[in-house]
Amino acid sequence: MAGRGRINRLWRSLTGRLILGVLAIHALLVPLLFIGVFHIIRVSHESQFVDQVRSDSYLFASLAARDFENNSAYLQQLVEESLISGRAHFVQVTDLNGKVLAGIAADQSPHPFKEDFFFGQHGDSMYYISLPITDRQGTPLALLRLGYDEQPAADQIDLVYRRGLYLAIGYVILTLMLGLVLAPQLTRPLQQLRKTSARIASGHTEARLQVDTRLEEVEGLARDLDQMRQELVKQARALEYQAFHDPITGLANRVLLRDRVDQAILACRRNRSIFALFLMDLDRFKELNDTLGHQAGDAVLRQVAARLQSAVRESDTVARLGGDEFALILPLSGEEEAELAARKIHGALRKPFHIEGCTLHLDSSTGIALYPRHGKDFEELLRRADVAMYVAKRGENEFALYQPQFDQRHLDRLMLGEELRQAVEHEDLVLHYQPKLDLKSGDICGVEALVRWQHPERGLIPPDQFIPLAEKTGLIGPLTLWVLREAARQCRAWNSQGRPLHVAVNVSPRSLRDRCFPEKVAAVLAEVDLPPSKLCVELTESAIFTDPVQAREMLEEISAMGANLSIDDFGTGYSSLVQLKQLPVSEIKIDRSFIGGMTENKNDAAIVRATIELARHLGLHVVAEGVEDMNTLQWLANLGCDMIQGYYIGRPLSPEMLTEFLLQHEEQPDRFGLLKGL
Ligand code: C2E
Ligand code: CA
Ligand code: CA
Repeated sequence: MAGRGRINRLWRSLTGRLILGVLAIHALLVPLLFIGVFHIIRVSHESQFVDQVRSDSYLFASLAARDFENNSAYLQQLVEESLISGRAHFVQVTDLNGKVLAGIAADQSPHPFKEDFFFGQHGDSMYYISLPITDRQGTPLALLRLGYDEQPAADQIDLVYRRGLYLAIGYVILTLMLGLVLAPQLTRPLQQLRKTSARIASGHTEARLQVDTRLEEVEGLARDLDQMRQELVKQARALEYQAFHDPITGLANRVLLRDRVDQAILACRRNRSIFALFLMDLDRFKELNDTLGHQAGDAVLRQVAARLQSAVRESDTVARLGGDEFALILPLSGEEEAELAARKIHGALRKPFHIEGCTLHLDSSTGIALYPRHGKDFEELLRRADVAMYVAKRGENEFALYQPQFDQRHLDRLMLGEELRQAVEHEDLVLHYQPKLDLKSGDICGVEALVRWQHPERGLIPPDQFIPLAEKTGLIGPLTLWVLREAARQCRAWNSQGRPLHVAVNVSPRSLRDRCFPEKVAAVLAEVDLPPSKLCVELTESAIFTDPVQAREMLEEISAMGANLSIDDFGTGYSSLVQLKQLPVSEIKIDRSFIGGMTENKNDAAIVRATIELARHLGLHVVAEGVEDMNTLQWLANLGCDMIQGYYIGRPLSPEMLTEFLLQHEEQPDRFGLLKGL
């Protein structure tokens, strides 16, 4: 069994096949060749012998015929010479009747005389030949019988045979030996290649296909195979990279993120540590993509990716999940660290982006889920981070750490966001107008348009509850334009009724990031046919000072078209009037937090007084917001404030009610007791 197995193995190896093949070929060829060659040699030896014998016999016969009748001594001498010289072993001359005339008698011969016609006939080692001895006319005189020893010739042939055989065997042995030596030289490197290939197949793709051989072909084969390996490895790496990375930013993709989260979970289980999954979404990215084009969008994504990467440690995973969604995995030593990291990341993204000559501001919202507190696996963590992200999007903060109560709120917000979108589309918004009283003339000089959402179930929703949502979801753009158009239309209506009112519109800081905003304002005014001087744009300080350079350009454009600019909620920021004066601003509105308490609080009173004085000095109009009583009105009038606004004069009213209010005011100009104090 073992023997058969070995033969089987031998047969399956190249060496084995070579050896067995050579053996088979030689087993067939060498005997054939040997027999053929030997046959030719033997035939030539035998025919040489026979020719020799025959010519010798003819010579003998012709010599014997000479003077045959008369000289029997000569015949005797011939016979003896022939026998003695050993040329012939048997010589006999008989007369025609068979009587022996000379030579060896028949009974003395070692073998009976049997004439041979070819070498080795009759197996008596003798070649017998008989010839007639004739006279000149050819008449037979006697019969000559000669016998030659075949043995020397046979020995000769035997010698040739043996030498030939040795040669053939030697040849076969040499060939076999050559096969035995050469075949391993071929099969060893092939086996080496096979082993390395197996290693490569099992994942050791860096294993070089190298063989130690001097066989040029095998060496070349190994070299080519190795080149192929390198090429395949390169391609495989590229494919692997594509499968795990985002093509635009080169960051990890969702597949790789999932893998990294799984790894992080395993590591955290081992070390009893925690990690955070951040899910980040750029606000209004779609808008940016739509207005600036996809190339600019991609450039922004790349810059965001670079900033995220530089904001975290190199070992932390930063991934892009598609669209404007990014995710990060951050190992933490404590939960507080998550907040620090979030601040750092948002700090990095807050700086303006420079794309194709434009300066852009991007806001982002981040939801944070912690392992193991908020989720046990990737799916759960991602879902919770997503919920937290939505909360961040709708809320004040740029980031939110997941909390269980988010889940319900998340749904509410989601619905609200969608509803708001529809409300803006379907114009389910209403504007209320709050009157502004000119303290010098006692006239209602203008109104401030304040938006409300007429919700089918929740009733009238105040702006504080949906403006932040609109800002986060990018709805603020269309919303502002709607307010602007509606307010301008209403203002135009009042003006054509002979009421020379101004209308103030609140503009969100985000609108200043829209380079086309001044153009849009101009277009709306033209469409509604309201002179720009009737419009006042209210902006907060913070809106102006987040990007003063761009804000200044915008404000200058708006101012250049003839509209007025007002700084809203003045005093709540950190800007100084002197700084504001460098901008084309014509009015400031002192925040109601100072006005409400000024009659009781000395500090507030001092601030209001100083502000009014300085503003007047700088040639700015001053509006006081949140005037709720007569006393405050008097104080402000005494301080030289230009205009006031507040519940004392009038709450924000629907257009119809405001018209009513105006009528009342026209009938009763001093109902606020203004003239009494003056
Ligand atoms: P704001 O620009 O400071 O508007 C004045 C807010 O003060 C209004 O609240 C108004 O009702 C309230 N107010 C007026 N007089 C008094 C008073 O005597 N006492 C008190 N306590 N409050 C008074 P409202 O309408 O709820 O608006 C809140 C904020 O929403 C506004 O603050 C403004 O920042 C924002 N907003 C309103 N409409 C729009 C809009 O169309 N676009 C944008 N971007 N923001 C808007
Ligand atoms: Ca305002
Ligand atoms: Ca205000």
